[in-house]
Amino acid sequence: MPTSKADLSSLSTQELLEEFAAELARRGAAEAPAEDMSTMELALEAQAEALKSASLARRLERRSGEEDDNPKQCPRCGEQVPVKVKKRPRQVRTLSGLQVLRRNYHYCKDCQAGFYPLDAALGMPEGGEVTQEVERRILDFGVSDTFNEAAQRWEVHYGWTISENLVRRVVERVGRMQEECEPEVLQEELQPVLRQAPALVVLGTDGSMIPTRGEDTWREAKVAVVSREEVVAAGRESPSVREQARYVAVVGSPEELKGELAAALKAHGANEARRVVCLGDGAAWVWNLAEQLCPQAIQVLDWRHAQHYVVECGKALFGEDDACLGVWRDTAEKLLWQGETEVLQRELEACLFLCGTDKEKKAIVTLKRYCSNNAQRMQYATFREAGLPVGSGIVESAHRHVLQQRMKRAGQHWVPQRAHRMARLRAAYRTAGPKHFHGAIYAAAARSAASST
Ligand SMILES: [Zn+2]
Repeated sequence: MPTSKADLSSLSTQELLEEFAAELARRGAAEAPAEDMSTMELALEAQAEALKSASLARRLERRSGEEDDNPKQCPRCGEQVPVKVKKRPRQVRTLSGLQVLRRNYHYCKDCQAGFYPLDAALGMPEGGEVTQEVERRILDFGVSDTFNEAAQRWEVHYGWTISENLVRRVVERVGRMQEECEPEVLQEELQPVLRQAPALVVLGTDGSMIPTRGEDTWREAKVAVVSREEVVAAGRESPSVREQARYVAVVGSPEELKGELAAALKAHGANEARRVVCLGDGAAWVWNLAEQLCPQAIQVLDWRHAQHYVVECGKALFGEDDACLGVWRDTAEKLLWQGETEVLQRELEACLFLCGTDKEKKAIVTLKRYCSNNAQRMQYATFREAGLPVGSGIVESAHRHVLQQRMKRAGQHWVPQRAHRMARLRAAYRTAGPKHFHGAIYAAAARSAASST
């Protein structure tokens, strides 16, 4: 039933849209050739794109037309500042196509800085060529895949192309934004801070190598995981209620990890926790960091690393395929598991006299030294009786899903600074989850900027 023009103007926008959609559907169905499903779906997607693009263009035109040429308040000093350039165009990729926004440019001589009031009113990112909504989606692809694959996946999902470079620029921009956030504010935004004091906070820290360009072809990436177990009722601990963990990562020194890790520990309630456990491999920096940030923590040598050292020593003594290797491993592990670290050390001492080669002697001495250096951290029987974790694989798995999945692909060689930036983004991504990641960084950056002025 055709509707007259007079009738149309009396309809609400929603009613008009329904009327329009119904008429468009009727006409489209009548005119459409017999096509397969994909052809129809893609043609309709293009129609919807055209409608979205035209609608947004009109809205932006209107906002631009309404913008007056009066002086505007400088966001830095608060003074009224005149227009310097009228209606300067900015090309921007939106979810409704490529658009051109014309807006006034004001320049504050005192602050020696310019600003665009309409950009701010629209919530446009200060730099770059995409809106926040587009940026959020590109970022999701860019931290999950190589830049090249991210650009390809974008086309699969959205039907229009973006360049590999655009993905790289978006990741760089948001990465720099994250770097400007106060660590504590960032942690609060990435994941809600629970007020209830936890029964147990577990910190796991470890390093792994990332391929980089320049003088060092490999650099150590450091990952820390902070997880907690809640107190369910006074005096009663839940068996294993794990909250979502927080992740912190850097490609750099322990010092670079320290500030952010302190913030993650604080946000996860390590200061109020009844018990804190630090799990680590044998590396000295792990224990130094634990002592600085959590002097109250119980240090535990990760069980898997202890196992690894036992097996490495056995291999040097018997070779990889010897049946004795299994017996050696079972015996040594049993002693460690039962907390008999001193017995193991004495047995190793006795073994030294039976060693034929220097290689064998060296293997024994290495394991013995490892056990004596870490004796306090290897009281596995005591730890287990107290219900403490002795190694969960949580750090190793963090290396995989926080870093390696994105940063150790075939052919990847990172510029060190970009590797560092990506490591930090990945840790934030895993802490916040894909839905909250982008918004959390924006919120933290805004709060950090407000508190620094
Ligand atoms: Zn100013």
